[in-house]
Amino acid sequence: MDLNQTKITPMYSQFIAEKKNYPDAILFFRMGDFYEMFGEDAKIASKILNIALTARNKNEENPIPMCGIPYHSYLPYLKKLVDAGYKVAICEQLEDPSTAKGIVKRGVVRVVTPGTVIEEDVLSGSDYNIIFSVEQFGKHYFFAIADSSTGDLFLSKSVSLSDNVEKWKPKEIISSTVESVSSGSVVKISCKYSDEYLAQRVASYFGVSSLNGLGINEIGFIKAVFNLIKYFDDNFLSVILKKPVTISSERELYLDSIAIKTLEIVESSDPISKNSLFDLLNCCKTPMGERLLKSRLITPIRDKNEIYRRQEWIQFFVDNNETISELESLLSEVYDMERIITRIVAGRGSPRDLIWLKNSISNLSDIKSVLSRYHHQYVKDFIEEFDTLRDLWELIDKSISDDPPLTTTEGGIIKTGFSPEVDELTNIKKNSEQLLLKIESDEKQKTGITTLKVRYNKVFGYYIEISRGQAGKVPDYYDRKQTLVNAERFTTPELKILENKILNAEEELGRLEYKLFTEIRGKVANESDRVRKTSSDIAELDFFIAMAKISLKYRYVRPEVGDFDEIEIIDGRHPVIEAKLNMNFIPNDFFIGQPAQKLLVITGPNMSGKSTYLRTIALITIMAHVGLFIPASKGRIGFVDRIFTRVGASDNLAKGESTFMVEMLETANILKNATQKSLLILDEVGRGTSTFDGLSIAWAVAEYIAEKIGSKTLFATHYHELTELESMVKGVKNFTAQVKEWKNEIIFMKKVVEGVADKSYGIYVGKLAGLPEEMLSRAEEVLSILEKHEISIDGSLFMTKKKKSYERTVVQPMLVFSDHPIIDELKNINPDDLSPKEALEILYKLKGKLDD
Ligand code: ADP
Repeated sequence: MDLNQTKITPMYSQFIAEKKNYPDAILFFRMGDFYEMFGEDAKIASKILNIALTARNKNEENPIPMCGIPYHSYLPYLKKLVDAGYKVAICEQLEDPSTAKGIVKRGVVRVVTPGTVIEEDVLSGSDYNIIFSVEQFGKHYFFAIADSSTGDLFLSKSVSLSDNVEKWKPKEIISSTVESVSSGSVVKISCKYSDEYLAQRVASYFGVSSLNGLGINEIGFIKAVFNLIKYFDDNFLSVILKKPVTISSERELYLDSIAIKTLEIVESSDPISKNSLFDLLNCCKTPMGERLLKSRLITPIRDKNEIYRRQEWIQFFVDNNETISELESLLSEVYDMERIITRIVAGRGSPRDLIWLKNSISNLSDIKSVLSRYHHQYVKDFIEEFDTLRDLWELIDKSISDDPPLTTTEGGIIKTGFSPEVDELTNIKKNSEQLLLKIESDEKQKTGITTLKVRYNKVFGYYIEISRGQAGKVPDYYDRKQTLVNAERFTTPELKILENKILNAEEELGRLEYKLFTEIRGKVANESDRVRKTSSDIAELDFFIAMAKISLKYRYVRPEVGDFDEIEIIDGRHPVIEAKLNMNFIPNDFFIGQPAQKLLVITGPNMSGKSTYLRTIALITIMAHVGLFIPASKGRIGFVDRIFTRVGASDNLAKGESTFMVEMLETANILKNATQKSLLILDEVGRGTSTFDGLSIAWAVAEYIAEKIGSKTLFATHYHELTELESMVKGVKNFTAQVKEWKNEIIFMKKVVEGVADKSYGIYVGKLAGLPEEMLSRAEEVLSILEKHEISIDGSLFMTKKKKSYERTVVQPMLVFSDHPIIDELKNINPDDLSPKEALEILYKLKGKLDD
């Protein structure tokens, strides 16, 4: 549609002018009680919002597509558009249409983007609504990770862009240096200022004289933060970010997005089943507590003091658990104060937000008094600093009515007794009903017209309506206002005076209430730092209580955590599976540490509990680094710098990567980045390819890790050959998931013990799964041949003539790796000297030789 060809009304040219400034946004154009959308915007919105698409100038040559939504309930529509990834520019009427001369002035007052939403209902409680501002300098990416709805701001530096994107799942990414991200799009912004100017702007934003104090000194961070602040400004969002928290690589246990995903830290692989660690632990009562738990789970730390502090708090509530339910019920009455205060500061808080804030504050002094019964030093310090915001409660309580309307312009906000003017105007409004009735009965009497009625409509105001037949009886002082088919409408001087009074009162009241409301909201906004401090105190309290409650429920214990080398776990349990199994989980011990036991080769049949064991160790290690108690009877957890996982196999077909390729890419990443302080969880490496080359890779990987990197490693494998490594490489130790045979049945003990699995029991598992008998007995037969080592190098079978179909040409029967050119070649390779790509190429070459 060419907008220029369409007949243009003044209103429509206003729309075009505004739309020009926001070409990439859907423009909500306020017209009376509706936000209207036109043109392409209307076509897109009508589809997403499932509303009717109509047209302006329908009967003319170039009708303009159009749709609309009611302004007083626009939030659900806004949510849908934002969720679908659209930007929405809200264009309001800037003057009162009833008093405006000519066309009402309009202007965009806010731009809502997926990363700058602060509106209630559009956000989900336990989720951060993350916006990334990222800047690239050389090979480093500098991230300002913010939630505009809470004001939280984290800074992080990394060499991987995509990993951080997958980890934090930002709703929006802005950048002046990064062009694109594999998942999601980047909003390109320009930043042409000098470094000094950027630094000065950022410092003044946080009210500090120098940025050093904030831990921001690299230009990458300064630019990222500056762009963020500017983006908020450009979108008319006056949020105040909290002082940044720097995520430092020396102080954290870095979990990459793969580890977070495979260990199901915050989301289970099937999100509906809610089997993640977060789902299990989350019994927080406030959205603030939930968000804190989630963020702490993905950013475990290596900070002894902070871990001790968290443990000490959890210990306090474990020891004094009689307070838990009492505090829980108080906390559950606390709303999302953190997001409420953000809306208030941004000038978008509703009267209802103020009431929610007040109701939340109502519980704070009770929380304080419950805690003041105790004398633990931490608790005493907490109480001393805990601000119960009493003054704000009083301010809101005396001024805002308890059940205010959703809108700010229609009165009914201010409580009786707060303002004499409001009370007087309200009285006039209320009494008017009485007075109108009196006029009606007086006039009936004076005129003798019994059907006479006093009525009101928006266009004509108040009038006296008299039926056509009675119109002759009307006295002189009646002024005709309107003639209808069956009736005549009049006014009188008395009615006019009253009408003026009523309408003025209403209008005056609306204006006055709005003015008072914004004043009160402004006063609350001035105290936002205090409200935020209290919100974060509440979040922590909620977090500690929840973690203590879980620890009691599932008998978790306080681990020793520190800068030592070993990880030792007695009776470790997988927290989520244990909860599902109703405590029928079989606990397992674990030890790893210098120098004799650094790499555990864990063999055992399928279904014997290997994966669960690996995951248990990883989860317990993470929980300990979050400062939580652990599902075990004892734990000593030495600091780990990073947990790497290579678990299972999933195709990334969207990226065009095969299962085996994904496996190799992940393995390459681990071998490149793991250190002696890392914990590696490797489950079935080399499974995605043929037996021999899979086995070779698994072998070489395990050897390489044990000899060259020295990471703590759990290596689960079905390649029994790998158990040979124990006698060949220092630090390798064999473990196996125990299996017992009993009366022809096989029992998986789910116990991991020192030693080697002797059989695979795959056929048994197949039987459990209901494979046909005949097929199973053939499998037994093949197995017994294979066990006599009658297998060829290419994996084809050296078959007896029993079944024709299995007959194959035999190349050369062999099993052990020796006397073969490929083995020689492998021996000559030093994996250290290879890039992942070269390693792959060699792999293909070797494979090619086999195929020849
Ligand atoms: P594998 O990796 O050896 O194939 P899994 O770890 O997947 O075996 O475990 C197989 C099944 O046994 C899973 O359903 C798991 O829930 C259950 N399981 C594993 N370990 C235990 C345990 N220690 N106690 C009870 N059940 C367990």
